[in-house]
Amino acid sequence: MTETLDIQITKTTHSRLEETDFDNLPFGRTFSDHMLLADYADGEWKNFRIVPYGEIKMSPAISSLHYGQAFFEGLKAYKHADGKVVIFRPDKNAIRFNKSAERLCMPELPTDIFVQSIAALVDIDRDWIPTKANHSLYIRPCMFATDPYLGVQPSATYTYVVLTGPVGPYFSKTLRVKIETHYTRAAEGGMGYAKAAGNYASSMLPGKKAVEEGFDQLIWTDGQTHEYIEEMGAANAMFMLDGKLITASTRDTILDGVTRDTVIQLAKEWGIPVEERRVSVAEIIEGAQKGTLTDAFGAGTAATIAPVGSISYNGEEYFLCDPKERVFSQKVFKTLDAIKYGTEADTHGWNYVV
Ligand SMILES: *Cc1c(COP(=O)(O)O)cnc(C)c1O
Repeated sequence: MTETLDIQITKTTHSRLEETDFDNLPFGRTFSDHMLLADYADGEWKNFRIVPYGEIKMSPAISSLHYGQAFFEGLKAYKHADGKVVIFRPDKNAIRFNKSAERLCMPELPTDIFVQSIAALVDIDRDWIPTKANHSLYIRPCMFATDPYLGVQPSATYTYVVLTGPVGPYFSKTLRVKIETHYTRAAEGGMGYAKAAGNYASSMLPGKKAVEEGFDQLIWTDGQTHEYIEEMGAANAMFMLDGKLITASTRDTILDGVTRDTVIQLAKEWGIPVEERRVSVAEIIEGAQKGTLTDAFGAGTAATIAPVGSISYNGEEYFLCDPKERVFSQKVFKTLDAIKYGTEADTHGWNYVV
């Protein structure tokens, strides 16, 4: 069912476009001129509006601040050489948005409303979409509880907000990663599969310690045994082992990544065997030692395909081959780029045209 979304639009009187340095875009610090907001109250979403990007007023008692009823999404828009603007697979993010909402006892948003609201915002700020290689417009939808009430119970009111901002490449180098065997990102029965704000809060201390030890990222393992690989930072971990693409199967503790799904689909089309299953630390380390681990990377919207240079485990560092020699991740990176930037036909219908 398609409802047409009524959005009230207030445009900025002073665009910041001219004063923005598009040659220097650290991730997540530059915001486009406008943002989209909507309110949930009395059991329905209302007041969809696009307004100049800026501060919002809130009570210090709102339950998202105290109890973490908050989650987000992340997707990207691209501008083609002919000026066409596309958003990559927003329908997938819409579905995941609602999975997160359900887990956190928050209201869902119809998937077509999610997509339409984002498309309307991207359309207004289409001049903010960078045209340089590896650049795009990052889109950050988010929902948070707004009841000014300190009781531990689901809020009755919520705000949906969408921000956008131009971004360049997220990681500029090959990653030195460490297999984490003490801390856990997500537990069985927990909310690891949701893009819940709290999941990222709990990852910060282990992440900071890893950086102090000289690593760029962590590889998370399961909370029960720490013998199985789950994810890599805020990206899905994918490996090419003995000619097979291997990644953790989606479950309670795994975020069902859009990039992960896209990579799997392409691999299958190229005739590469794909195994979605539990991935043991032991087999990955053995593969690194024997040389049968020919590729390892993080897959995510922000990071795209982020090659792993070395994996450390229990104080030993295992080096992988030069990322330039990796047939699979090079091909997948190039193909994904070509589809997103419109230099290759989008035969899967992944690009949503704005
Ligand atoms: C966002 C995220 C991913 C990647 O998902 P994409 O849809 O590909 O961006 C993977 N793992 C975690 C923990 C994430 O937060």
